[in-house]
Amino acid sequence: MGVLELKFTSLEEITVIREKSRAAFLSGRTKSIAFRKQQLLALAYLLKDNATRFQESLASDLGRPVLESNFLEIGSTITEVKSIYDSVAKWAKPEYPAWSFNWFAMKPTLRKEPKGVALIIGPFNYPIWCVINPMAGAIAAGCGCVLKPSEQSPATAALLAELIPKYLDPELYAVVNGAIPETTKLLDLQWDHILYTGSGRVARIILSAAAKTLSPVTTELGGKSPVFVDPKADLKAVTKRLMWGKFVNAGQTCTAPDYVLVEKDSVKPFVKACKETLEEFYPDGAEASNSYSRLISPASASRLKGLIDGTKGTIVYGGTSDVEKRFVEPTIVEGVDVSDSLMSEELFGPVLPIIAVENVDEAIKLVNSRDHPLALYVFSSDSAYKNKVFDNTQSGAAVANDVIIHGGAEGLPFGGIGPSGSGGYTGKFSFDMFTHLRGSLDNPKWVDLLIGGRFPPYTPKKAAA
Ligand code: NAD
Repeated sequence: MGVLELKFTSLEEITVIREKSRAAFLSGRTKSIAFRKQQLLALAYLLKDNATRFQESLASDLGRPVLESNFLEIGSTITEVKSIYDSVAKWAKPEYPAWSFNWFAMKPTLRKEPKGVALIIGPFNYPIWCVINPMAGAIAAGCGCVLKPSEQSPATAALLAELIPKYLDPELYAVVNGAIPETTKLLDLQWDHILYTGSGRVARIILSAAAKTLSPVTTELGGKSPVFVDPKADLKAVTKRLMWGKFVNAGQTCTAPDYVLVEKDSVKPFVKACKETLEEFYPDGAEASNSYSRLISPASASRLKGLIDGTKGTIVYGGTSDVEKRFVEPTIVEGVDVSDSLMSEELFGPVLPIIAVENVDEAIKLVNSRDHPLALYVFSSDSAYKNKVFDNTQSGAAVANDVIIHGGAEGLPFGGIGPSGSGGYTGKFSFDMFTHLRGSLDNPKWVDLLIGGRFPPYTPKKAAA
């Protein structure tokens, strides 16, 4: 069928789409759990029926191998939607606070109500997962929802725009495609919740715009996620997981390991293990391999080439690039210090700097001197080492002995802290994000026998009671 061309939504249409979703929400049809489940099922089928087309769109946007697309994005999103489908009826039930003598007669109740119409703004790097996962939460909560996929992954954005109205209620759920003018227009409108996934730079623009309309916002951002390697760890096992998580999707993963902290005496064996692993992964080199993705754009490849060219460290693996072909070789750089070009920003590409440290205390101090990362990784089989790192640092997630897979772990929130984001989602946390907990009481007349003294006139007798 071939990949689709991306058409931007007209600015006039954007207001109409918002109004249509609002009117459909006010019709009350999303109050029915059966309706929500039917929409969730349709969402899962949208992905399943069109898996091949999504594989093609991701290959066009990101040069993605099919295995990466299935494992990291299409399959994991279907699993997430199905799990939300299975639990929505339970989550939507009202809850009751602990029994209290003072309040029980008024039946205090937490009503789980949809917030209204949500806006979900997505990034380019996981253009399905980052919009469909939260959308499933919005549908489960009973919200209407407008998606704004990234224009930098145009084939996937166009496919979402074609399929969503075919599979889902076309009034409640819609896709707006475009770049800055279209997103700016969306942000001029009031939303009952905005979920923004992307860079910290653009998050500042989103939050400022949302402040004008008092739209609540969740931000899912990035940052430099560090890796601690215990000198006693099994380096062969460490580097297999680490190289995979770093170089999958050509390093364009928000939780990708950004840099590694290795004790001085372990640097040489660690580098040797990294090289051996990469030689196993890409025996004829990454450029010839069909297991290696591409950068999203020549501009992105050029940014990474600039960072590599600017390093004062030693390139011990890789280092080549072909900007026009959006290719940057998996690159390992040793002897990097905190002032290096590679430590100046989130790398978001296939370059891994290694910082040599005296000991774990120095590594902890270094991490704590920077913004809280989205994830923090420790490779060690020693509980004392792991606990020391986790107990003395802050990050969105704390993961031992693997990288990036925690985004799919059922029951855990996925999100950052401070500069790496605010608020987490997936599963029940997605449902909660789009749900208003409406506190409710129903006070019977007889309760005034107990608290009738609150009414004026405030006689001395009442005041003394
Ligand atoms: P980005 O911030 O450039 O773009 C994200 C979205 O914002 C796009 O839809 C884009 O159209 C829109 N946008 C861009 N400029 C805008 C502007 N001036 N005004 C209004 N809207 C604008 O991010 P990206 O490059 O697509 O994604 C990469 C970033 O996202 C990385 O920092 C990565 O770590 C982060 N990320 C985070 C998560 C997470 O779940 N925490 C997941 C994926 C990516």
